[in-house]
Amino acid sequence: MINVFLLLALVVFVVLYWRWQHIQNLLWARKYKEITLSQPDRQVLLQYMPIYRAMTDADRVALERHVAWFLGEKRILGRDGLRVNRAMELIVAADACLLVLNQSWPLYPNVKEVLLYPSSYYVPQTSQDAAGLVNYHTSVRQGESWPGGTLVLSWHDVLEGNRLPGDGHNLVFHEFAHQLDQQTGQTNGTPQLPSKQDYADWARVFNRAYSNLKSHVAYQMPHVMHSYGATNEAEFFAVLTETFIEKPAQLRDYDPELYRLLMRYFKFDPAQWQRY
Ligand SMILES: [Zn+2]
Repeated sequence: MINVFLLLALVVFVVLYWRWQHIQNLLWARKYKEITLSQPDRQVLLQYMPIYRAMTDADRVALERHVAWFLGEKRILGRDGLRVNRAMELIVAADACLLVLNQSWPLYPNVKEVLLYPSSYYVPQTSQDAAGLVNYHTSVRQGESWPGGTLVLSWHDVLEGNRLPGDGHNLVFHEFAHQLDQQTGQTNGTPQLPSKQDYADWARVFNRAYSNLKSHVAYQMPHVMHSYGATNEAEFFAVLTETFIEKPAQLRDYDPELYRLLMRYFKFDPAQWQRY
C-alpha cells in the first residue's frame, strides 16, 4: 500500500516538475485577471512616459497587463533614503516591460529586485597598477544590472530618460537590455534566440553593425547610435536597444537589416508608434 502512495507521489511530482511553467502561468492568469492599472495609474504613465502616450491602444493594454504582473512579482526598493511611491514603481515597471511587450510571463525570470537611488551614486572600487599597487577609489554610476537578478537605478536618470524620449538615452531600457543579454548566462550582446538559424543571423548582422559603430567612433564620425555602444558587445546591445525604441525611424533608415533583426527579436515595431 505504501508503495502505491510513493509511486503516486512520484508521478505527481514528475508531472508538477514537467508542467510547472504551464501551471504557474495558469495561476498567474487567475491572479492577475482582475488586477489591472487604475485610471490614476494610467494618468501617471500618460504624464511621465511619452512613449506610452504614443503607443497603439492594443500595445498599451499589453503593457498595462505586464506592468501589473511585474509589480506583483518583483520588488522595487528605495536606497539612500528614497521613499518609493506608486508613480515611481509604475514608471520603472512600464519602461522595463516595454522591452518584453510581446513576450509571455515570466518576464525577466532572473530579476528579483530593483534598487532605486535618488540620483547618481558612488561605488567603491579597487584597481591594480602596473607595479602591483592596489588603488582604492570611487566611481559614479547611474545604473547597473547584476547577473544575479538585481538592478540598480538612479531615479533622477530614470525620469530624464522618459522626459526626453527621442534622444536614444533611457536608463531603464539600457539596464534591462543587459538583463535580457544575461539570461543566457553570458554577457556578450547576444540574448536568448529561438533557433540555430536565429543565432547565425544575429551573429552576422550584429557583428557587422558593431564593427560599423566602432569604426565611426574611431574616426569621430557621427552615427545614429551613441558612441558608448562601441565599448564592447554587451554595451552595444544595450545602446542598440535604447536606439531601437527611441530613434526607430533613424535606425531603420540607417541600417534596415539591423532594424529587421531587432523587430524579429523584440516582436514589435516602435516606428509604428506615432512620434511625440
Ligand atoms: Zn551598460
